[in-house]
Amino acid sequence: VIETGQPEHSVVTTCAYCGVGCSFKAEMRGEELVRMVPYKDGKANRGHSCVKGRFAWGYANHRDRILNPMIRESIDQPWREVSWDEALSFAAGRLKGLQEEYGKNSIGVITSSRCTNEETFLVQKLARAVFRNNNTDTCARVCHSPTGYGLGQAFGTSAGTQDFDSVEHSDVVVVIGANPTDGHPVFGSRLKKRLRDGAKLIVIDPRRIDLVRTPHVEAAYHLPLRPGTNVAVLTAMAHVIVTEGLMNEAFIRERCDWDEFQDYAAFVADERNSPEAVEASTGVPAEAVRGAARLYATGGNGAIYYGLGVTEHSQGSTAVMAIANLAMLTGNIGRPGVGVNPLRGQNNVQGSCDMGSFPHELPGYRHVKLPEVRAIFEEAWGVEIDSEPGLRIPNMLDAAVDGTFKGIYIQGEDILQSDPDTKHVAAGLAAMECVIVHDLFLNETANYAHVFLPGSTFLEKDGTFTNAERRINRVRRVMRPKNGYADWEVTQMLANAMGAEWNYTHPSQIMDEIAATTPSFAGVSYDLLEEKGSVQWPCNEANPEGSPVMHVNGFVRGKGKFIVTEYVATDEKTGPRFPLLLTTGRILSQYNVGAQTRRTANVVWHDEDVLEIHPHDAEQRGIREGDWVRLSSRSGETALRARITDRVAPGVVYTTFHHPDTQANVITTDFSDWATNCPEYKVTAVQVTPSNGL
Ligand code: SF4
Repeated sequence: VIETGQPEHSVVTTCAYCGVGCSFKAEMRGEELVRMVPYKDGKANRGHSCVKGRFAWGYANHRDRILNPMIRESIDQPWREVSWDEALSFAAGRLKGLQEEYGKNSIGVITSSRCTNEETFLVQKLARAVFRNNNTDTCARVCHSPTGYGLGQAFGTSAGTQDFDSVEHSDVVVVIGANPTDGHPVFGSRLKKRLRDGAKLIVIDPRRIDLVRTPHVEAAYHLPLRPGTNVAVLTAMAHVIVTEGLMNEAFIRERCDWDEFQDYAAFVADERNSPEAVEASTGVPAEAVRGAARLYATGGNGAIYYGLGVTEHSQGSTAVMAIANLAMLTGNIGRPGVGVNPLRGQNNVQGSCDMGSFPHELPGYRHVKLPEVRAIFEEAWGVEIDSEPGLRIPNMLDAAVDGTFKGIYIQGEDILQSDPDTKHVAAGLAAMECVIVHDLFLNETANYAHVFLPGSTFLEKDGTFTNAERRINRVRRVMRPKNGYADWEVTQMLANAMGAEWNYTHPSQIMDEIAATTPSFAGVSYDLLEEKGSVQWPCNEANPEGSPVMHVNGFVRGKGKFIVTEYVATDEKTGPRFPLLLTTGRILSQYNVGAQTRRTANVVWHDEDVLEIHPHDAEQRGIREGDWVRLSSRSGETALRARITDRVAPGVVYTTFHHPDTQANVITTDFSDWATNCPEYKVTAVQVTPSNGL
């Protein structure tokens, strides 16, 4: 049953799944949600939606939801339901005790890209103003942290440069390491329309995604690169543009650092970066790279859209900078139809980064070492802010295993399922003396928790999400929290149980504090959001209407920075034992580890992950369509069914990661991005053999 009776009233709110940020009318009968109707005035979706936002909200009422707080002395004991007061004083007592015994840096927090900006702001404030350290990190660590680093270096701000409307002005679209029709379906539809209307498409992806050939759309170029070679291909494209004189010299002279450009141009012009020189390592025919580079440089407005197939590599940050280099080389920045556009995965991954979740940055991407920035927050919060960057998630886990990191508050995140090297995550969690999980369900991480604080769904709270185009959308409460409190209230209660004196009564007050301390949000208020529906940051005195397109007259950092992008092959090597390369992705009807989509009964979801394997590799192994196969790597193994397809090249296999039974992260390696520690999920040397099943 999809729709259940007639509504009495409706509330406009924002989808809590992906970074497109579609607006919906939640049609209600009393406290019962009857249906979600795509909102025609929603600026990100203009009345469109995908199956997840439209139908996949049943998890909010699922019997698996935990509605009462629980505690236990140790993880081998059963849970005990307690009052909120008892749970919070137990948690606060343990955290304070750990700081007294092991020092103030022995505890930390992990924020959630699923929660609101206001909730995220409070969680990092808990670390900085109450714990008095910078031990705050975010689940963006494992997805788009290289975007934060790479775009910050090149342009001075860690965000996509365009709005979604911009695609209607594009003449050439490059899609690299993303699958918009599955991962970001509403934007994917807009992109397909633009392609049907005549824009040219270049796809750079190991797998033949649907966009390469779909009704009325055919990519001009598909570069099916070997997983792990993005930087080599992107730098080879730059080689063609520079050596064939296709760059936009006027733009570079006016907008970029000319000396740095000359160093960069000399680097890319070197013959070792030519398409011919890297053909063997990338697997992409040199002529195709040359053709794609010429088309991007000369085809009119060129826009690049990318996803986790760019970031989740040992050179993820380098690849982001290589993309930024291409945009600056060709002057494809600062007007509609062009730009560098990360397609954010989760609903508020942009916002969680904006709100200061990273251990080295206060809200608004300002380094904690800057005394003038700390002074703003010290005055607002009445405490001294630590000037030393805190620990990233992997460093927290390492320190826990070493015995120096003892307690953590994790809001809306299942690190045991989503982070790499599951065994190490488990060892780190098991070594801690106070793990507080604040979530909707008893997730895998909660197996190691001492305190479970029930979370609230997006339907049960007010706040804002920021989508992939920097659009701040209102989230509106449509029903009372089933657990009693919105997540921001729980964080406030925990802070106060530890001695703080916070007294927010509505998230709008938290947004006012964000605006008062963060220049890019200075003009944002709930009143403005009511008036305009949504705004795109920066929104301040200089940009009172917000900023659909960034870097129009100059880069945020001043001059655009060209960065030498030397290709370094990953340490993850194929060999006789593990001769194939595994890469991963997602499908339209599921979402990440499936915690919500698998708990939604009103749609038929696909019920297993499958392994795509090329007919040649399957035949060599005696594998037929639908057979169970064992997928093994140096880290571990799992079993799943085979799908034989030439969507993947010989030597490459592909799977989704939505089902906990598959446990794709048991397979992946512990290599990570050199700059940000983002795990290298997209390249794993594997073997595939026939199997009898799970
Ligand atoms: Fe929700 Fe994304 Fe689908 Fe829009 S495209 S309805 S934001 S999941």
